[in-house]
Amino acid sequence: MALVGPGLTEDVDEEALTANVLWEAVTGKPGTQTWYEHVRVTCRCGHCEAERKAANDAAYADRRDRTARAKVEPATEKQVKYLNTLVAKVGRERFDTAFAEAVKGTKVAPRSADEKTGQALKRLTKATARKLISELVGP
Ligand SMILES: [Zn+2]
Repeated sequence: MALVGPGLTEDVDEEALTANVLWEAVTGKPGTQTWYEHVRVTCRCGHCEAERKAANDAAYADRRDRTARAKVEPATEKQVKYLNTLVAKVGRERFDTAFAEAVKGTKVAPRSADEKTGQALKRLTKATARKLISELVGP
């Protein structure tokens, strides 16, 4: 394959555009890289930019939806199970502090004095459970 001017990318098979090919095009000498590596070609035309933007927007909307769902979805069984082992490890006092911190500003009520740990854990949403886990495993 050859890189031809003036844009240097016309008629180039982008699938076969490797670092070695680029090296040879620029220096006139064969490239020395022995492993195969794809070169990512980013087209800046309006159509491709719009396509990329749409894909980014969709990914962003998807992330936002997941975050919104995590705020109402209950904690998963796996999260609750993991939190139970963490409680045993860190002790009740640190757990209570972390619990209060994790639910602050959310719709999940703080733990009441007579509430059992298991009950409190079951009230957590996916998002607050995630926060509580990171509070407990953090420094
Ligand atoms: Zn394009």
